[in-house]
Amino acid sequence: MDDGMKISVLASGSTGNATYIETPQHKVLLDAGLSGKHLTELMASINRDISQVDILLVTHEHSDHRQSVGVLARKYNINVYTNQKTWEAMGTKIGQVPLAQKNIFAPNTVMDFGDLDIESFSVSHDAADPQFYAFHHANKTFVVLTDIGYVSDRIVGITRNADALLMESNHDLDMLRNGSYSWSLKQRILGDRGHLSNEDSAEAMTQIIGNRTKNVFLGHRSRHNNLKSLAHLTVASVLEDHDFGVGSEFNLLDTNADKASDLLII
Ligand SMILES: [Zn+2]
Ligand SMILES: [Zn+2]
Repeated sequence: MDDGMKISVLASGSTGNATYIETPQHKVLLDAGLSGKHLTELMASINRDISQVDILLVTHEHSDHRQSVGVLARKYNINVYTNQKTWEAMGTKIGQVPLAQKNIFAPNTVMDFGDLDIESFSVSHDAADPQFYAFHHANKTFVVLTDIGYVSDRIVGITRNADALLMESNHDLDMLRNGSYSWSLKQRILGDRGHLSNEDSAEAMTQIIGNRTKNVFLGHRSRHNNLKSLAHLTVASVLEDHDFGVGSEFNLLDTNADKASDLLII
């Protein structure tokens, strides 16, 4: 019997990102933005062996997403997938990846992996060709959407009513504005190719969350410009203002930079 798609947000935040997705046929890692050792420990904490991963997807070349891509590919012979420009932008930063394990996942396409269809979609973010992914298994969909400056109607159309969602809730606007970052870095984060504030994330969620949506993870929290409680309260209050049943119609779940979420089955 098919017991669904299993998900763990292994680590999420500006210091490193990785998410684990499992179906009966596949064990997938989405991004590897921490050391191989650290990821191995996080996988072990959910009783999974990193050597069993058979698909490693990369969203974009920022170090908090690709730090150990090359190491893991070489050590465990994992097939790595991302688009051409992201391969070029990662370049020598990840070391050699054996040619047979280098796969192109073009933007805005679907790849069929047997019991798992993976859909890529381009996002507005300051990388070479950033793309995020929707995972489709047995009539269920899990969408990951972090590292995005703004959520277009096209993205809403792709992600709407996902069963589970990992969504960026990057910064609190006041903390960012009043914080120690340089003017130019603040502008970069606030721009159309930066990151979503807690409020912007919540506004986007009002369009994405539907009656099928049961679990929403808040992710990619800034270490310097946000707090777990503040992100949660801000998003929950915007959603409640729009009559969403936070905690009754769906779970609003926090993520951590250093602790894997329990395996969620959808
Ligand atoms: Zn990032
Ligand atoms: Zn990024």
